[in-house]
Amino acid sequence: MSLYSAVLQAIEAYPQEAAARPVFPTAAALAGLYQLPGELPLHGLAPEVVLRLLADHAGPATVHTNSGRYFGFVTGASLPAAQAANMLAAAWDQNAAYRVMSPAAVHLEEIALRWLAQLLAVPATALGGFVTGATMANFTAMAAARHHLLALRGWDAEKEGLFGAPPFPVVVGAEVHVSVLKALAMLGLGKDRLIRVPTDSQGRMDPAQFPALSEPALVCLQAGNVNTGALDSPTLIAQAHESGSWVHVDGAFGLWSPAARYTAADSWATDGHKWLNLPYDSGIVFVRNPAALAGAMDISASYLHASGTEPVARGPESSRRARGMDAYAGLLSLGEQGVRDLIERCCGHARTFAAGLATAGVEILNEVSLNQVLAALPTEEQTLAWLSAIQAAGDCWCGSTVWRGRRAIRISVSSWATTEEDVERSLQSMLRSLPAGN
Ligand SMILES: *Cc1c(COP(=O)(O)O)cnc(C)c1O
Repeated sequence: MSLYSAVLQAIEAYPQEAAARPVFPTAAALAGLYQLPGELPLHGLAPEVVLRLLADHAGPATVHTNSGRYFGFVTGASLPAAQAANMLAAAWDQNAAYRVMSPAAVHLEEIALRWLAQLLAVPATALGGFVTGATMANFTAMAAARHHLLALRGWDAEKEGLFGAPPFPVVVGAEVHVSVLKALAMLGLGKDRLIRVPTDSQGRMDPAQFPALSEPALVCLQAGNVNTGALDSPTLIAQAHESGSWVHVDGAFGLWSPAARYTAADSWATDGHKWLNLPYDSGIVFVRNPAALAGAMDISASYLHASGTEPVARGPESSRRARGMDAYAGLLSLGEQGVRDLIERCCGHARTFAAGLATAGVEILNEVSLNQVLAALPTEEQTLAWLSAIQAAGDCWCGSTVWRGRRAIRISVSSWATTEEDVERSLQSMLRSLPAGN
């Protein structure tokens, strides 16, 4: 059998194989990883042999995130059309840094970005780019913000660096995602000099406690709290704009909420590989002011083309994979209504989980307004014992979190593949796993 036929066979066999075993690999499957060569051989192996080793020993040790019963983190699966396009793009070996390197990749990225702006209610004139994930999308957007806010103060951040630069305030919610803090640290803006706005019971910034800003600041809103799914109020955008501030929205998954209304913001970050169910790695950034993004990210060199609106001028990377191809394929296979249905379906499943657990006496700690459910038993010990039993049962997988001091199980419904049967089977498994006395 040719190498590619063998790959296709392995790909086709995977869903059934994986569905027949626990979502998280067994200890025996994990031990199988040590059957893989751990030392670099002097002489290489045939591609067919390499593939066989991976299929036999790495495949069984994969977490079956592509099943409809994976509810860990906020990760989603990957849409068949997007996955297929991803494989094709890999076979074509396209580099999406510049149009001249891959006219096809750049063309498809541009269409996909236009569709994404439309779906996310981002202005059509905003400049968008593909990056590795929401962490880099936050980084890229806030680099553009830094360029703009320092230019207002007569400082060129890219030319002069930050030594001696005039400071500007950075405002985040008390429930800011750690990736925003990491991005701020990488940008030299610091993560300990922030104005942190107190949040309400769902983790939303309290508008009444939003600071009165006397100068243009960087304000980071959050669309989709990682625990509760709650969205910061879009009315904060106008409030922040009164001071000439730049409003960035970290909407890794929450920007896909039908309730997300952030058109008036200045920059937006979201993930393709979470709720849109694209393959890794896929993040998307949009910036209203194209000059600010170009100011932060443009490069020029004698052998390179004037970059202007090339992908290389829209994010930190140069050479990279053709992310837009799988975005294009995924969106084309869903259509606008398909995207809406995917989101609505996940939210409905989350409500089913919450209702089913509450009926059995489990406490639901959040208002289930999106795709997140936080479930807890009276004590941390009981909750952790319950979680271990759920994970050991293997019908589904979810992780834990701490919400407002309470240990909780976090069920995140983000997969296109989750069916009502998946929800029912997972719910029954969760109920059977409840410790005695509950
Ligand atoms: C997941 C997430 C991120 C980080 O996204 P990556 O794709 O993992 O880089 C940022 N913000 C929020 C709210 C998230 O949920």
